[in-house]
Amino acid sequence: MAEDSILESTERTSGHEALRKNVQAAIALAGAVRSTLGPKGLDKLLIDDSGETMVTNDGVTVLETARVEHPVAKMIITASSTQDKVARDGTTTTVVICAEMLRNAWQLVRQGVHPSVIARGFAQSETFALSSLNELSIRATREQIESAIETSLAGKLDKSMEKHLASLSLEAADVILSDGKADPTRVKIIKQTGGSMSESTLITGLALAKTRIHPEMKERGGPGSILILDGGLERRKPKFESKLNITSTGMLEAFREAESKALMKQIENLVAIGCNLLVCKEGVDDEARQALSKNGILAYRRVEKRDLDLLSRACGANLVPDAGRATKDDLGVFTSTHEELRGGVNHWILEAEHSGATLIARGSTQSVIDEVERCFADGLGVACQLLEEPVLLPGAGATQVALGRKLRRFAESVPGREQLAIEAWADALESIPRELASNSGYDGIDSLLKLTSAQIESGDYIGLDLSDGKPRDTISRGIMEPMTITRQAISGATEAAISILRIDDVLWAQMDAQIPEEVQDGLQGLGAE
Ligand code: ADP
Ligand code: MG
Repeated sequence: MAEDSILESTERTSGHEALRKNVQAAIALAGAVRSTLGPKGLDKLLIDDSGETMVTNDGVTVLETARVEHPVAKMIITASSTQDKVARDGTTTTVVICAEMLRNAWQLVRQGVHPSVIARGFAQSETFALSSLNELSIRATREQIESAIETSLAGKLDKSMEKHLASLSLEAADVILSDGKADPTRVKIIKQTGGSMSESTLITGLALAKTRIHPEMKERGGPGSILILDGGLERRKPKFESKLNITSTGMLEAFREAESKALMKQIENLVAIGCNLLVCKEGVDDEARQALSKNGILAYRRVEKRDLDLLSRACGANLVPDAGRATKDDLGVFTSTHEELRGGVNHWILEAEHSGATLIARGSTQSVIDEVERCFADGLGVACQLLEEPVLLPGAGATQVALGRKLRRFAESVPGREQLAIEAWADALESIPRELASNSGYDGIDSLLKLTSAQIESGDYIGLDLSDGKPRDTISRGIMEPMTITRQAISGATEAAISILRIDDVLWAQMDAQIPEEVQDGLQGLGAE
């Protein structure tokens, strides 16, 4: 069978034309986020299907919300999402660098350099750059860690709020750090509408907006044993279909009595296994409530499944379906429990070996609180990385320019055409200081030239001061980024660019392959073959 007939109703683009279209898509995608880069980047208003709106300048949020169809654009969005998962920051940087690498690669292809040679040159550049990062890095002091978290939140909220959230993130990361590892999922976030966002606070331990089920139960206590019930302490309610055939007087009472006995038996078991604190997913009957209180067992009911899981992890307790059958092995351990009013709402606060911390995010409206939550989560991610690996790189474009200078010297030692690819890769990296400058109203190319010559004179830590566009020392100004962010951005962008460069044939099952609309802006100067 001829190839054409196999590929019936499939649109096919191959060779350089495929690459050109893919590069177009990448540039278009970067065009959608490049104006958000840096502390002076602008915001985007996002509107979803149901008319919900969100204002953000977070690159990955923009891309994940946009309905992008082009497969190559999707590959880059995946690189950006991975960046978000691994490093919690640097998502716009990844997209901008990747698109720039592809744009430069295309220019080389037009000059007759084969894509696989470019891919090789890019891979060499990545290896060289990653190993050079160590020479640029500094070991962070506590103060520098806090500055770096602030840098990563720069431009997201107002300055004082960025500072507040940076310090809460670091405080939370401190609480969850154990054996040199900090797992951000150990921090719970409670959203509380009302008040100002600056009233957001951090609580050590696991907090739930709950009150004990009986006022006579002691609200403060511990250490002790906790049982987590994936059910309740309630009489079974006879369902309508299951008719009770009352044939003699007192039969209903007898039935009730039996139920009540069963309930008490469950509580006896709790006492027998030594449970001091009971948490239930469902309700607790009045009778059981009294009995628990009498037996000195503190109890909380109607706790969401998600919170039960957190409690179980915090205290090492099993989730059991039936209080009557629970054993000592099902119990977990807590160190303290108490209740406290926060923002006018009563909170139950439990501390245990792995109870982590809880942020109470406050704000006047839901969307403000959502933004506080997102920023805190980003700050926390960065704080955790920095406690695990307290290594920083200079920000404000300094690292990219320093790497660019090193790469150009390295390129001179590479004989083949890969040399051109290494220079193209270095150029792509320098798109970051160029964009930072132009998003702040300065000329990108002039700023880059000034920065390069300032670095030659005064060293690798000189970056752009965006308040006046002049080159200045970044370390003394506290503009630094975690090594993890830059490392991941470099490898994520390069790997995505290389896989796109290797595509030589695009087969579309449908006829109308869509390229995002902004494509027109990015196309000038690309030229068809
Ligand atoms: P990303 O999504 O890639 O993190 P951002 O919009 O957060 O994008 O911008 C990050 C860039 O902004 C980094 O290159 C960082 O060095 C730079 N940056 C942050 N704060 C400053 C500052 N005060 N002055 C100059 N550059 C800054
Ligand atoms: Mg950022």
